[in-house]
Amino acid sequence: MAVMITEDCIACNACEAECPNTAIYNAGEPYQYDGEEHEALSEDFTYVVPEKCTECVGFYDEPQCIESCPTEAIVHDPNHEETNDELMAKKVVLEGMDS
Ligand code: SF4
Ligand code: SF4
Repeated sequence: MAVMITEDCIACNACEAECPNTAIYNAGEPYQYDGEEHEALSEDFTYVVPEKCTECVGFYDEPQCIESCPTEAIVHDPNHEETNDELMAKKVVLEGMDS
């Protein structure tokens, strides 16, 4: 399951630096995926790219962004449910990409 950022976000940027998959971007900032630049998923809030989030599986025991958020604005995304095995497979795929 990926995580998502809610409207409780105060855009403090604390989570962005903690993500081992560079899955977190500032509002309006284009994101990188598979060597290509893509339009921002949100113009209003810091956002997570679901395809890049492994819930930190393969790196840490707990999602680092959730641990770092001062406003508890990061939650599990019910629209992107994945098993641990799927998340680990995603990590391996991401490692083979440019970004
Ligand atoms: S859970 Fe981990 S991989 Fe997903 S966005 Fe947060 S820090 Fe990045
Ligand atoms: S740490 Fe929390 S409040 Fe700060 S940018 Fe990330 S989601 Fe927003």
